[in-house]
Amino acid sequence: TGATATDILELAEAHQVRFLRLQFTDILGVIKNVEIPSSQFRKALQGDIMFDGSSIEGFVRVEESDMLLAPDLTTFQIFPWGDPAARVGRVICDVNRPDGTPFEGDPRWVLKRQVARAAELGFVMNAGMEAEFFLFKPTADGRPATDTHDVGGYFDLAPMDLGEDARRGIVDALEQMGFEVEAAHHEVAHGQHEIDFRYADALRTADNIATFRFVVKQVARQFGLIASFMPKPVFGQNGSGMHTHQSLFSAGQNAFWDPQREWALSLTALHYIGGLLKHARALCAVTNPLVNSYKRLVPGFEAPVNVAWSMRNRSPMIRVPERRGMGTRLELRTPDPSANPYLALTAMLAAGLDGIETRADWREPVNTNIWEMSFRERRRLRVDDLPQDLSEACDELEKNDVMREALGEHITEQFLAAKRAEWREYNQQVSAWELERYLAKY
Ligand code: MG
Ligand code: MG
Ligand code: MG
Repeated sequence: TGATATDILELAEAHQVRFLRLQFTDILGVIKNVEIPSSQFRKALQGDIMFDGSSIEGFVRVEESDMLLAPDLTTFQIFPWGDPAARVGRVICDVNRPDGTPFEGDPRWVLKRQVARAAELGFVMNAGMEAEFFLFKPTADGRPATDTHDVGGYFDLAPMDLGEDARRGIVDALEQMGFEVEAAHHEVAHGQHEIDFRYADALRTADNIATFRFVVKQVARQFGLIASFMPKPVFGQNGSGMHTHQSLFSAGQNAFWDPQREWALSLTALHYIGGLLKHARALCAVTNPLVNSYKRLVPGFEAPVNVAWSMRNRSPMIRVPERRGMGTRLELRTPDPSANPYLALTAMLAAGLDGIETRADWREPVNTNIWEMSFRERRRLRVDDLPQDLSEACDELEKNDVMREALGEHITEQFLAAKRAEWREYNQQVSAWELERYLAKY
């Protein structure tokens, strides 16, 4: 990585980088990029590349379709695959208006704005996200399918598990791109994997997750597999989460840690928890943005179903890992890897900061199994349910002023319109389940 345009140009030349991808993320969290040949590198690194934003879903209104890509020079990377004599590099960009002002529809800018708000209150957010994913074998004609490469094989220690090889290939590629990979393992479901890399400040982590998803998909394809971050691809199996570990730092110290208090958690941490609980139902629209997301949030698959926190139990939405000192943090277990990481971190940080500012009630931690509690007991402990579906989550987001303000009106409107349309379309489908259940019987 280089810090100045000149550094990057030199690096690019030394490593025979022939193309540069100017990368950004749309509102729905899909990576977009404009690829330019080496003759344009200097111009691009000076932020002189325009693109037509109207071609990107939910991105801009027609009258403001010309957008400028402003590269963040600290994000330059060279992809470790392809022809070594014609490498491809990338740099993550902010999206600006032609006059150079930030575009409010750019999720990366929205996160930067929330990070700046935290800074005004004296806080830096650190976050680490555990993105789970599946590796599937494509059909004979190369289309995605949900057959896993390792059905029945993995737990017998099958000698040739393509999935394991692919995962190692992914870890190699990530390390070559500067990721500090801390752990990589098979997950509970057949064909399901998790790769954890080191936490960082919120913006860096969002950039990392966007890059991570892209690298996982690319490398999987090199192994003839299809990687999917869909939250619940297989009925009856664990879904994929993106548990988000988060903490606030203040003057270089962990602001969540207070050895003098109960649980060694500071008031700041408790109010932050209170904020996440208070906004949990609206947060879901952002952290769990697909129709399919809500098929993961059901009992029995290690995914949360209720609005609650716990010191050790894994069924609630928030868990407080044992670590204290600089490693003191909360783990929000609701998010799934289909979320836009910029918007998800924006929404979580905004919820936590609102909790701190309004001294939100953190309620009692729930250390017993919520699924076994009676309705009355849940009422007493104020254990609410997470939204049942995307439509309910959208309703919650629509009426939540803290979330709306954090996302901004432009993104809130575009996001809700896209998600409501998605819901309507889904809701009109006639599913295999219905045919099986009703067709002959009625
Ligand atoms: Mg994990
Ligand atoms: Mg996991
Ligand atoms: Mg976890």
